[in-house]
Amino acid sequence: MTSEKKRIFLSSPHMTGNEQEYIKEAFDLNWIAPLGNHVGAFEQELSDYVGMDHAAAVSSGTAAIHLALRLLDVEQGDTVFCSSLTFVASANPILYEKAEPVLIDSERDTWNMAPEALERAMRDADKTGHLPKAVIVVNLYGQCAKMKELVDLCNAYDVPMIEDAAESLGSEYDGRKSGSFGTFGIFSFNGNKIITTSGGGMLTSNDEAMIQKARFLSTQARDPALHYQHSEVGFNYRMSNIVAGIGRAQLEAIELRVQQRREVFHRYQKAFGDIDGIEFMPELPGTHSNRWLTALTVDPDKTGIDRTAIIQALAEENIEARPVWKPLHRQPLFEEYRYYPFQEHHSVSDTSFEYGMCLPSGSNMDAEDQERVIDIMLTELKV
Ligand SMILES: *Cc1c(COP(=O)(O)O)cnc(C)c1O
Repeated sequence: MTSEKKRIFLSSPHMTGNEQEYIKEAFDLNWIAPLGNHVGAFEQELSDYVGMDHAAAVSSGTAAIHLALRLLDVEQGDTVFCSSLTFVASANPILYEKAEPVLIDSERDTWNMAPEALERAMRDADKTGHLPKAVIVVNLYGQCAKMKELVDLCNAYDVPMIEDAAESLGSEYDGRKSGSFGTFGIFSFNGNKIITTSGGGMLTSNDEAMIQKARFLSTQARDPALHYQHSEVGFNYRMSNIVAGIGRAQLEAIELRVQQRREVFHRYQKAFGDIDGIEFMPELPGTHSNRWLTALTVDPDKTGIDRTAIIQALAEENIEARPVWKPLHRQPLFEEYRYYPFQEHHSVSDTSFEYGMCLPSGSNMDAEDQERVIDIMLTELKV
């Protein structure tokens, strides 16, 4: 029987209280949509925070990835490399453009794209004279990928990187903010992310012309003319002024949210991090993860239980937990595409999926909520 206990979500919206003031301002000025002062201000504040020169506010993280591919002229016949261990949204825009995704495995230190596998894929592509048009690198659950190695490889082959920082806003690598390492960074403000606008995204870049083009494409590619004139395909991807108002208030709290999510992680780690067979997603030295979600693997041989049974036990107590993302190369949608495992016959992301799970990690979880989760974990792990 499912109990009547309060539901604990994996990650739920956490408002600061200032959102409504920004919305009220938009209402007072009747700047509801399409644009208005909040959109430009949110773009400025987000790009300043991340450390990139320019940003375009759009309707979702997926739209931001799609625009990045468009700006890089990705089209049918092209290939785009992408992390395999990720949410489907990282790669769907490759299919929108009828290009061919090539999926790249993770390595153990970060669970993110393995430089070893990327190098093999690049070498093979170079041999056939068909280098990818872009590499989409994901920073999973807030953990930065091995950016130095990945950026060096992309530069060596002169292939632009799109950094999918949808889950890693506020994380740092080498003192620099996640999402600032590629030709483009993309962010998501979907309801479950570390900050949310109810739904929205951002495309960042140091290339002003590219960002201006993104704004153009995201408003139906309207040519400068009094009448409505169009000479290329556009999209309706722009963020509304109301949504941007929410984003401004949310962004004010980002440092606090990172701290709170990290505290959630540390409480889990303290409670059962020492148990043989439990391994948390590591934090690469020199990086600072926002710990968007606490992710861990459970070795059934050592703990006597598998992660699915734990997720089930939590569900019975009205607590939401999930397996780690199912790698894209194992998804029916992407099965037909090429995959580069970490090493031949050795796939790391398959293991992360098989044994991995994510625990409730919202910044608005109180200690009592978390105790409920921890108690069940300890019971299931027979401590
Ligand atoms: C959430 C997410 C996206 C997509 O963002 P939306 O705003 O939901 O479109 C892309 N990539 C990753 C890794 C995500 O977690």
